[in-house]
Amino acid sequence: MTLLDVDGLEAGYDTGQVLFGVDLSIDSDEVVSLLGRNGAGKTTTMRAIVGADVPHVRGGTITFDGHDLRAARSYEIPKLGLSLVPEGRRCFDELTVEENVRLAANHASDPLDRESVFEQFPELDDMRDRPAKNMSGGEKQMLAIARSLVANPKMILFDEPCEGLAPYIVRRIESIITDISENRDVTVLLVEQNVAVAMAVADRHYILDEGVIVDEVSTEKLKEDESLRQKYLGV
Ligand code: ATP
Repeated sequence: MTLLDVDGLEAGYDTGQVLFGVDLSIDSDEVVSLLGRNGAGKTTTMRAIVGADVPHVRGGTITFDGHDLRAARSYEIPKLGLSLVPEGRRCFDELTVEENVRLAANHASDPLDRESVFEQFPELDDMRDRPAKNMSGGEKQMLAIARSLVANPKMILFDEPCEGLAPYIVRRIESIITDISENRDVTVLLVEQNVAVAMAVADRHYILDEGVIVDEVSTEKLKEDESLRQKYLGV
């Protein structure tokens, strides 16, 4: 069953159009990546889907779980079960780990049991009283994921969750995403610059170039096709 369907999405900023008709179709329980070079429009696509204030959506349809997201208010979208873990690991710096997770749960209509989330993140369990501002980048990323997960979403959009993290933390984030998908039945759309991360967790990949989806490939094909990776991803 299709959970997220994006059809002909056009969006941009006051400075100009960035997306020129993006099409994505993601089924329940899939893990899919959106790849592309810097500036291809990956973050703009994610932000348009969740109804962030910027960019401006100018055309196309976005349907999530049967709901027309273009007609929804941005605050309604998490309640429909769609969550974004944005670039930059946003947490409340002055609040502790525990308070950050509790706040996210309190804002959700049908949250998960917080203890079960802490069980999944033993690193966070060990630092519940620590203010978020005193955490490392990798720990903050885990907290951002835990905050998203506790709201019990049907789908999580991850925007470059591994950017700037050490390899062993990247491996840990990969395993968390796989675990969330397999054991919590969360559908995943992952934006990554790091093609190796995308290939490790996703089964299928959309390639975005200059605001248009130019290809859609399996992990196997992406591994084999060096010219495709060179042309659109520069790797
Ligand atoms: P990156 O990995 O660099 O974030 P991306 O594929 O996610 O790349 P976007 O962040 O979506 O790309 O940016 C696409 C284009 O939109 C770029 O030319 C960028 O400069 C422009 N852009 C992004 N955010 C804004 C904004 N808030 N206002 C104006 N232009 C923006």
